[in-house]
Amino acid sequence: MKQQFADDLRADTINLIVPVVSIAAVLVSLLSMLRGDILSERGHFLILFMGSIFVGTHTRALVAKGNGRRAAWLFLTAYLLMLSLIVNQEWHPGSPLPYLYGLFVVISAMILEPTAGFGFWLFSTAALFASVLTTEALSLSVVGMLIPPVIVNFLLAAAAFLSAAEWNFAVNSVSELHRKAQHRRDELFAIQEELKAANLRLQAVNEELDRARETAVAERDMRTRFMNNVSHELRTPLNAIVNFAHILAHGGRGPVSTEQADYLHRIEQAGFHLLNVLNDILDMAQIEAGEFKLRLEKANLQPLCEEAMVNVRGLIMEKEIELIRDYPDVWPTVEVDTIRFKQALLNLLGNAAKYTEKGHIALRVKPEDDQVKIIVEDTGIGIDPAHHEAIFKEFRQLNEADARKRIGTGLGLPITRHLIRRHGGDVVVKSEVGKGSQFIVTLPICADDAVETADPATETEPT
Ligand code: ADP
Repeated sequence: MKQQFADDLRADTINLIVPVVSIAAVLVSLLSMLRGDILSERGHFLILFMGSIFVGTHTRALVAKGNGRRAAWLFLTAYLLMLSLIVNQEWHPGSPLPYLYGLFVVISAMILEPTAGFGFWLFSTAALFASVLTTEALSLSVVGMLIPPVIVNFLLAAAAFLSAAEWNFAVNSVSELHRKAQHRRDELFAIQEELKAANLRLQAVNEELDRARETAVAERDMRTRFMNNVSHELRTPLNAIVNFAHILAHGGRGPVSTEQADYLHRIEQAGFHLLNVLNDILDMAQIEAGEFKLRLEKANLQPLCEEAMVNVRGLIMEKEIELIRDYPDVWPTVEVDTIRFKQALLNLLGNAAKYTEKGHIALRVKPEDDQVKIIVEDTGIGIDPAHHEAIFKEFRQLNEADARKRIGTGLGLPITRHLIRRHGGDVVVKSEVGKGSQFIVTLPICADDAVETADPATETEPT
């Protein structure tokens, strides 16, 4: 690469120098031929004339074919011979012709290599002596006349060497820079290609993602529609079963025996449970479809908590569980969808009732700055900390056999968390196996309002 670059520059130099020297030589030979008889006295100038034309055209042809070095050798050898012929014919004491060798000494260093100047100086000195001494007798005075041009030509060789060496150094640096620039350009090209490929890959991935998203949305919509339809279709006959069983059990269509009443109660309870399950499924379907709407209104927290506590009492009738109300002196106002908020609270209290056999279930309400903590606490079976996040995912029941015994869908907690989060709050669990559980709901308080209760002390309600 470096060599190629130097060769290119050398070829440029040859193309510049050769025509100049050739034209000058042609002109000089023409003028010289006019001054005498061409064939007898001026034949050497005729040779110079024709030689210059030949060298001029051939050198350019060689350079064009990429043979720069051969062109340089042809040019230098031809002019060394032609100049020597002229010196042989024209030299006389005091003639400046020997100094002309210096011109070619310099050119040789330029078009071959820096040291070539010394080589050409050697050849030209030999040629000068040979040309002069074939016509002049060897004498001290002749040699003395040839010494100054030989010294001057040597100095020219040295000067040409230095400048050509510097030129070479510059060429090397430039070619190194050129090489680095090309390397950099290649690297940039490679990076550009890689970027293009990465872009294409990204585009493909994006398109695939779009397709996957569309499929997922279509599937979700289909599932939601299906769940909605199924829920609605089941709800009507279930309501009929529950209501008619209730009417029959209470003697609405004539007297029933105790055993019949017991069976009818069971039908009513099972139907009621199924209705709850259906409601959960419907809620979840709405949540997933993003169609779940809240009707927010400002409300006092006390009646909401109290209603939930009254409801939970019915669930623990047959168990030795104490109900504890740990209420604040001043009740905060919250902005909630009262039905949905009660549903969330009932889910938590219902779970406490389901998973607790004895001890207590407490509802602790603690206003703190701009939020209120509502803690549902029980002394039931507890939950392994490893499952604290899992129980908030749909259809997760930790011990399925256990859960089946207690009847549940695994949808209560996910719905509860969604409801609370939609109210701007959150719900977390603190629990260990065998040590009971605490579900802690936080809810923002409406800043402007607070209601005082008549008797705010902590109350317990034995069953
Ligand atoms: P499920 O209808 O099964 O109760 P949930 O979503 O309400 O569904 O609860 C998920 C699981 O979390 C339950 O199956 C149960 O294993 C566990 N869990 C929830 N609440 C309690 C609690 N108070 N004590 C112990 N385990 C609980």
